Amino acid sequence: MYLITIKEDKCDGCGECVEACPVNIIDMVDGKAVCEDSSECIGCESCVAVCPTEAVKFQEL
Ligand code: SF4
Ligand code: SF4
Repeated sequence: MYLITIKEDKCDGCGECVEACPVNIIDMVDGKAVCEDSSECIGCESCVAVCPTEAVKFQEL
């Protein structure tokens, strides 16, 4: 299982991670990317790779 957390203060709202996620578990909320439930994350790390500000933190639990 994986845990995806997105640092709000680092996110610039570009939406790249939302587009990149193959299972659509990242959403934009008030201009910031949010992953409220990463239980369906497949661990591809695409969100980490595309983020220009290193706002996405990926953890394998
Ligand atoms: S690691 Fe892959 S599946 Fe998981 S949230 Fe990021 S883009 Fe989506
Ligand atoms: S790719 Fe990074 S900066 Fe862009 S919306 Fe996602 S978390 Fe925010």
